[in-house]
Amino acid sequence: MSMDAVLKEVDSRRDDVVKLVQELIRFKTVNPPGDTSDCAGFIKDYLSERGLKVELYESEKGKVSAVGILKGSGDRRFIWDGHIDVVPIAKPDAWTVDPWEGKIVESRIVGRGAADMKGNVGAAMVAASILSEKDINLRGDLVLAFVPDEETGGYLGTGYLVDKGVLDGDACIVGEFSPFNTLCVGEKGILWLKVKASGIPAHASVKFLGVNAIDMLYKFFEDLYHVEEVDRKLTAEFNKIIDAIQPALKQLESIGFPRELLNNMYRRLSVNVGIVKGGEKVNIVPANAEAEVDIRILPGMDYDQVKKEIDQIRKDYNNKLWEKYPNLKALGIEGITVEETLRFDPSYQKLDAPLILLMKKEIQKITNKEPLLFVHTGGTDARFFRAKGIPTVCYGAGSETPHGANEYVPIDNLIEATKVYALAAMDFLGTA
Ligand SMILES: [Zn+2]
Repeated sequence: MSMDAVLKEVDSRRDDVVKLVQELIRFKTVNPPGDTSDCAGFIKDYLSERGLKVELYESEKGKVSAVGILKGSGDRRFIWDGHIDVVPIAKPDAWTVDPWEGKIVESRIVGRGAADMKGNVGAAMVAASILSEKDINLRGDLVLAFVPDEETGGYLGTGYLVDKGVLDGDACIVGEFSPFNTLCVGEKGILWLKVKASGIPAHASVKFLGVNAIDMLYKFFEDLYHVEEVDRKLTAEFNKIIDAIQPALKQLESIGFPRELLNNMYRRLSVNVGIVKGGEKVNIVPANAEAEVDIRILPGMDYDQVKKEIDQIRKDYNNKLWEKYPNLKALGIEGITVEETLRFDPSYQKLDAPLILLMKKEIQKITNKEPLLFVHTGGTDARFFRAKGIPTVCYGAGSETPHGANEYVPIDNLIEATKVYALAAMDFLGTA
């Protein structure tokens, strides 16, 4: 069957794609706790019935992956990877439809996970089913992985399968949403810190007897935010990527993102204080407070260097505290402590990888437009593959609604993704 015939076949299965995505959305794979066993079991049945060989892997109770293989005749392996866990519904009232129904509204499927990323999971399942049922005879294996835990780090899903050698191959598409039909060739790294402040309790009416840990915390953040103001040295290779994503940044600029903000996004750290807790009662000077901080890091920025800078800020700050509050010093209370709780490396795909040319060509064929390159600001499971040296890009349908209310995927976009996944596998592996 020719590529053109495959494209026609995808068009004829438009309703199948929609129904499948709706079914996937109805599995409440909310993470946490992120139990994917039922959903993975459903995927196993669906793909087995259509001729794929499917195994389930359980890394921890309830963290179940389904890995399907469409056997080909040669040694090459092409991987498609997507997660089946979804984030919780933060504000149910903000939804105008049932988030677990997969309702169709104005040619869009609306529901939790529609954009991130059960839409693309359904697209990949239908693409692989067509290649299997129409006896395409790939000259290598197509491997599809449907994984848990992406929304909480990925170590129990893609990370686990890559470590075990289950997911090994010559190239990989991670089917995350790529904004404006771009092809995503990199992503930022993440550093999470827990910042604790220790003070001295006292009655609010004689607050000079105590040291307020909440005050301490927010004053420390004034100092910490200075790490955002520095332009940082990136790797030469990543600088080339920054050049290559300029057309996409121009597009963002044209819809209202200030240029300076876009530039800073790709040459500076970002610091977000996401959670603050502290205090016991309104009339007590709080002795303890803590916060969680999310820092985004670009390729070429050295984590240890960043941590060293933060540690210096902390030491300078604590010294100032001890000068101001001799009783803290007398009690040996350090003031601010900082602890690392999570670290993801940034990652990127070198631009000369044949996979990038191939994907550009196939996306252009389907959308009639050469895709722009982009770097995800968030983290994806792509980093696990890149760490193993497997060329990896992200491409998928979606919308700017992941994790939000009324999350949706446009059906036309979903059909495009189905076509791109099918053609990319045929092109990369070749057909007999
Ligand atoms: Zn996702």
